[in-house]
Amino acid sequence: MPTLDGHKLAILSFHKIGEPPPGGWTTWFYIPEETFIRQLTYLEANGWQVIDQSRFLKGLEDPESLPRRSSLLTFDDGYRSMRTVALPLLKRFGFPSILFVPTNYIGGRDTFGSGRNPSEPICDWDDLKVLESEGVSIQSHGASHRHFSEMNLEEQKAELLHSQAALEDGLGHPVEIFAFPYGDDGANPEALRKELEQAGYRAACLYRGGPISFPLANPFRLPRLAMGPDTDLEAALERGEFIPLPSSLSCTSTADTHGVPSASVNCSPVPKDSETVARALEPGDPTARLTQP
Ligand SMILES: [Zn+2]
Repeated sequence: MPTLDGHKLAILSFHKIGEPPPGGWTTWFYIPEETFIRQLTYLEANGWQVIDQSRFLKGLEDPESLPRRSSLLTFDDGYRSMRTVALPLLKRFGFPSILFVPTNYIGGRDTFGSGRNPSEPICDWDDLKVLESEGVSIQSHGASHRHFSEMNLEEQKAELLHSQAALEDGLGHPVEIFAFPYGDDGANPEALRKELEQAGYRAACLYRGGPISFPLANPFRLPRLAMGPDTDLEAALERGEFIPLPSSLSCTSTADTHGVPSASVNCSPVPKDSETVARALEPGDPTARLTQP
């Protein structure tokens, strides 16, 4: 397929843009505004065309419809700073994005971070509607933000369906993209894929990994570039230096004893040191407690 040769899609995964709340502390998951602007500027200046959710979904089925260098901006957890800090910057660039929200927390706080990150308010329905009207597609990050490794298939299915129903009721459009909390898609991804498809999802995202090449292996296990303040986009996108998917997801090595993906550096390409990898774990990941204040 010569026309697909070199087509790449980079899905970037952000958490919080801006400063920690008053009295809070900063963590790797906060990206200062100036750094975020530099990252967006890099994409724009280097031909990484930022696509929206509908173009992304079409591109998964018809990669030739995508720009040769496509990027998709995603934000996890639905922090309120998405509306107050990130949105104005995204609008300045004219960039669309996707926000993955755990529906049990809409209008509440991120108690799932359990002390390793300062607690932050989560968007309420009004925030989500405003975001959608400004080019931010709201999609599912499950309901409870629990690890899929700690649930059986029925519980996983309930997460898919309940979160989807809540968002569809609240926002009035189909919800077709899922992002696994902690990038953890559980012990039986094949069975889960069937449930995702049956529920009407068309794509699902992991956490960590690099740009996607085509033809696509599996639209329900899409790697995403873990974005922090020190992420070097040129290194990641041009030289393949990014935090790899856990070995349990991308290679043949073993998972840790809890079945939770660990931040192994056994995969290739592996230029990052283990400390950087550990810092890149999503808030609340049990293996991240060593590195959180
Ligand atoms: Zn999350």
